[in-house]
Amino acid sequence: MEFTTIPHPAPLPSDTRTEALKNPGFGTLFSDHMVTVDYDEAKGGWHSATLGPRGPIALDPAAAVLHYAQEIFEGMKAYRQPDGGIALFRPDANARRFNASADRLAMPHVPEELFVEAIRQLLSVDGEWFPSVEGGSLYLRPFMIATEAFLGVRPAKQYKFIVIASPAGNYFKSGAPAVSLWVSDYTRAAPGGTGAAKCGGNYAASLVPTREAFERGHDQVLFLDAAEKKWIEELGGMNLFFVFDDGSVVTPPLTGTILPGITRDSLITLLREEGLTVREEPYSIDQWRADAESGKLLETMACGTAAVVTPVGKVTAEDYEFTIGSGGPGQITSKIREKLVSIQTGTVADTHGWVMRV
Ligand code: PMP
Repeated sequence: MEFTTIPHPAPLPSDTRTEALKNPGFGTLFSDHMVTVDYDEAKGGWHSATLGPRGPIALDPAAAVLHYAQEIFEGMKAYRQPDGGIALFRPDANARRFNASADRLAMPHVPEELFVEAIRQLLSVDGEWFPSVEGGSLYLRPFMIATEAFLGVRPAKQYKFIVIASPAGNYFKSGAPAVSLWVSDYTRAAPGGTGAAKCGGNYAASLVPTREAFERGHDQVLFLDAAEKKWIEELGGMNLFFVFDDGSVVTPPLTGTILPGITRDSLITLLREEGLTVREEPYSIDQWRADAESGKLLETMACGTAAVVTPVGKVTAEDYEFTIGSGGPGQITSKIREKLVSIQTGTVADTHGWVMRV
């Protein structure tokens, strides 16, 4: 698809930008441009791909997304390479997950080539928005909203696919060496629901439990399964891995109620390459506590694009609390984080075909 480019002067003076890029935090600073592509069933699908200034979008007050929450998104990062170039990590996997989310929300697919090309277009003009902070990257947020104006519960016939970029430093405010979790009584997803889709509604529903975790002084919320409140599912925005003293690792299986993380999928490969046995199987909160207390469980890591690989230090519920290992980063967690980051940032060769230069 041909992209129309609308030139515009950078809204932020370069010295202000240089200052902001030293400590961008996460999700508050945005690059100059955005890509938009429109979809209209009556016009045969996707059309009017545009690379232009980032700015407000006009929506009819009856736009379906505002009423029935037909919205999906992705989260991925562009990484600066040692030679100054830019690379994406498994963007094809993000494109596939995006389309799986689209299927669940009755939305049209964005062809994989269009998804990746939109990101390339944005990076071609906003490459200077990389943070100067150590470990900084450019976070990319492709998303799709239903724009058709109508009231009535049915799939919309018009959509917008948009990509914006945000310079990213550390995800956790404290830059925490180990995170502390609050075991929520709220649940995130039920069997047959939308738990495996990356749709805004899932995150709206996680705000109250997350606020509860923050108010109690924890970094993240841990969700258990909706049926029995027994099985560990995932965090508000990360998947989990449990490392045992016999060289085995367990991660909850993809049964439709957790997000199939791309970091999760990559870690399964990397951990196996380290000689560890990785099993995708249910693990209960009671067993986790018992294994942490007996010392059988050595480490727990949380993983996701935003937070990369982060050790879990402490777990707190209404009536108990336990510590994992020493409460700080464990050996495997640190090693696997290093391995993943080295691949993403191009300091070791990519033998998996995961890194795409743009
Ligand atoms: N679970 C949830 C609920 C998430 O929002 C995310 C972040 N996308 C993840 C897990 C981790 O997924 P990924 O590794 O693809 O970033």
